[in-house]
Amino acid sequence: MKISNKEYQKFSKQIILKKIGIIGQQKLKSAKVLVLGMGGLGCPLSIYLASLGIGTIGIVDNDKVELSNLNRQIIYNINDLGKYKVDVAKNKIKLINKNIIIKSHKIRVNKNNIEKIIKNFDIVCDGTDNFKTRLLVNDHALKQKKILISAAVSGFDGHIFKFNFKKKTPCYRCFLPEIPEQNNNCESEGVIPTITGIMGTLQANEVVNSILNFNSNMEKKMIVFNSIKMNFRSIHLSRNKNCSNKC
Ligand SMILES: [Zn+2]
Repeated sequence: MKISNKEYQKFSKQIILKKIGIIGQQKLKSAKVLVLGMGGLGCPLSIYLASLGIGTIGIVDNDKVELSNLNRQIIYNINDLGKYKVDVAKNKIKLINKNIIIKSHKIRVNKNNIEKIIKNFDIVCDGTDNFKTRLLVNDHALKQKKILISAAVSGFDGHIFKFNFKKKTPCYRCFLPEIPEQNNNCESEGVIPTITGIMGTLQANEVVNSILNFNSNMEKKMIVFNSIKMNFRSIHLSRNKNCSNKC
């Protein structure tokens, strides 16, 4: 995909990196990345995807902006209260890069629409807030052989994992076969805003690594970050022979 003179100027500070160059920028422009959930993770994630020059971005959410969102969902402000998140986000992402193709879906992901939503994207980023949706997204990303980059936050902790389902790999269900009874999310547990920013940004970072084929060592691994101790821990994920996905 061709890079215009204006785009060359706009992205010059990343294009001069030998590992990116014009070819890398073209790959970023050709990429199609889906963001599920436009909350604390989806906001920084989509801002970075836009500012990096990702050519096609899908955004999915059916919530409206509430006052209690504003401490961490950094795309929105006081003027956006009561408006649909995807409508506000679409306009603001366009201001970062007007050439982006944005496909917005004002819906909640469920088992009836998931297949169609993820079909036209190369990379699926999950920033939804519950185990049920995360497992559903995992199962369908696996079925359609996508790259899945999933993150979650609670309290002062965040975690991120990536599965490249084009290859043989464990899946999220290997690690979490059933939906846990207790659903830890921001609504019930509370969350420190900075952790959502950090984990959403790590997702965007891993999108770049995936598109440009950088070896980030994220395979078969979950990275856990604690914002108080400021440490990253890595947990090895292995295939579960009883996984219902037979992955
Ligand atoms: Zn599995």
